[in-house]
Amino acid sequence: MTNDATASATTSATAETIDGFHLVINALKLNDIDTIFGLPGIPITDLTRMAQAEGMRVISFRHEQHAGNAAAAAGFLTQKPGICLTVSAPGFLNGLTALSNATVNCFPMILISGSSEREIVDLQQGDYEEMDQLAIAKPLCKAAFRVLHAQDIGVGIARSIRAALSGRPGGVYLDLPAKLFSQTMERLEGLSSLIKVVDPAPRQIPAPDSVARALDLLKGAKRPLIILGKGAAYAQADAAIRNLVEKSGVPYLPMSMAKGLLPDTHALSASAARSYVLAEADVVMLVGARLNWLLSHGKGKTWGTPKQKQFIQIDIEPKEIDSNVAIAAPLIGDIGSCVEALLGGMGSNWAHPPADWTKAIFERKEKNLAKMSATLALNPVPMNFHSALAVVRTIVTDRPDIILVNEGANTLDFTRSIVDMHQPRKRLDVGTWGIMGIGMGFAVAAAVTTNKPVLAIEGDSAFGFSGMEVETICRYNLPICVVVFNNNGVYGGMDVNKSGGTDVAPTVFVKGARYDKLIEAFGGVGVNATTPQELSKAIVEALNSGRPTLINAVIDESAGTESGRITQLNPQTAAKKS
Ligand code: ADP
Repeated sequence: MTNDATASATTSATAETIDGFHLVINALKLNDIDTIFGLPGIPITDLTRMAQAEGMRVISFRHEQHAGNAAAAAGFLTQKPGICLTVSAPGFLNGLTALSNATVNCFPMILISGSSEREIVDLQQGDYEEMDQLAIAKPLCKAAFRVLHAQDIGVGIARSIRAALSGRPGGVYLDLPAKLFSQTMERLEGLSSLIKVVDPAPRQIPAPDSVARALDLLKGAKRPLIILGKGAAYAQADAAIRNLVEKSGVPYLPMSMAKGLLPDTHALSASAARSYVLAEADVVMLVGARLNWLLSHGKGKTWGTPKQKQFIQIDIEPKEIDSNVAIAAPLIGDIGSCVEALLGGMGSNWAHPPADWTKAIFERKEKNLAKMSATLALNPVPMNFHSALAVVRTIVTDRPDIILVNEGANTLDFTRSIVDMHQPRKRLDVGTWGIMGIGMGFAVAAAVTTNKPVLAIEGDSAFGFSGMEVETICRYNLPICVVVFNNNGVYGGMDVNKSGGTDVAPTVFVKGARYDKLIEAFGGVGVNATTPQELSKAIVEALNSGRPTLINAVIDESAGTESGRITQLNPQTAAKKS
């Protein structure tokens, strides 16, 4: 993972021959993949230079995990597998965290890592960065392949693309040993060995009887609810999904990355009455959302159990069905086709749910929104999460096209509930694992793939995982404004060392740190904001100028709670409750 001694991008090929480097590049380009996120070093340095020379965009990061996260987010946003390119062993391992996170989130990406010589690795003779990468990657991703011969590069890349995109999308590992790159073959033969993948994510039409079963259940519901997940956002079936909600008249809840599929201000949004609708609904239709921990596994207090509840689940992955509770009406297929089939089956005079249900939701929503408005209107000194996010909320409403990246604990929870999203796929966050460290990688991918301004709202702890990538942001002059909500620590800065020793408590950072100075080192704009007015001004200026900006937003160190809204997952809290 270090400097490559070979400084030039010389190729092993001649006019009549083509080498492994160029077969890889041509295979990617043939499949309309035009960007590589990676980190150069042995044995892939020349590949990055040659890819750039051949017109691909090569975005070099400071750590492979962030390149991998960028590839994952690019996959989610574009429905093409994002490519992450790393060196062997440690570089590969750094990328692997992002690959398994992509797989867990159902984002298509391909981690391509250079590797050491097979003969030496298999005999464990101690090669440079020796590691059996393929074996290690296999259980952590959707599929894993290795190519040993130049003539198989086309097949290797085609299989990787198809595995990443078809069915439930996910992460694929492609192992390319160093020796492969300099292998040559006859040019025409080489080029004709490449494969343009035809229909990599084929539509999957749901069976008519499963459509009828789902509609029957929905029709009989007294208190129906639709839950939209990030699978629905990924599917890019935005108009059909909106039609389904509006034609059925069923209130809906968006999971965090599905926010904006319909504007959060939509009359049928039940977000502000979340607890009520989850507990009270009698029929719940899941659209690209899993009944995992984020939905309390579909049971228990959150769901008002033991009340009778029935589920309809639209998913492309049949194995997902019944994973936590019984699903009365599974609808297996791609979301676009399933939703179109439902719309077709609903006919022209589908009855909306009983008015007492929608009225009860509306009343709760109004009450909760009024409470929220009152909190947002306060202007405490120092700023707290609410007063800072009131500013962000207004800015995102004025600029609905900006992409919001969001990670942290309290910073995540408060941003998700306070900042309304108005357009699909404009919110990227910690996803299924609730992982920290996605921030700068996701922000770079969002800027590179969409050319839209990006606003990253980061907890100070979360930012630390990928903070060095502000250099990457400055180097490529990306229109990214990072706001670090600085409350002096993980969860906050108030914790004390109970031993009485001189070390600070494990969750406390340097007090009064100036994260804004970090970006100034690389020529970006740094701003220290202590009031909502200063914060608003700085964000608006950043969005208008498009210059890389980092705002240190000083937040009350006593604001926020341990682990944000998932305190109950801390073993001690859980033990006290049980
Ligand atoms: P959230 O965290 O937002 O609730 P999840 O990641 O749990 O969402 O669920 C996404 C689901 O969407 C996965 O079960 C996945 O199989 C499914 N999915 C992804 N893409 C499609 C698609 N095009 N059509 C149907 N289902 C899809």
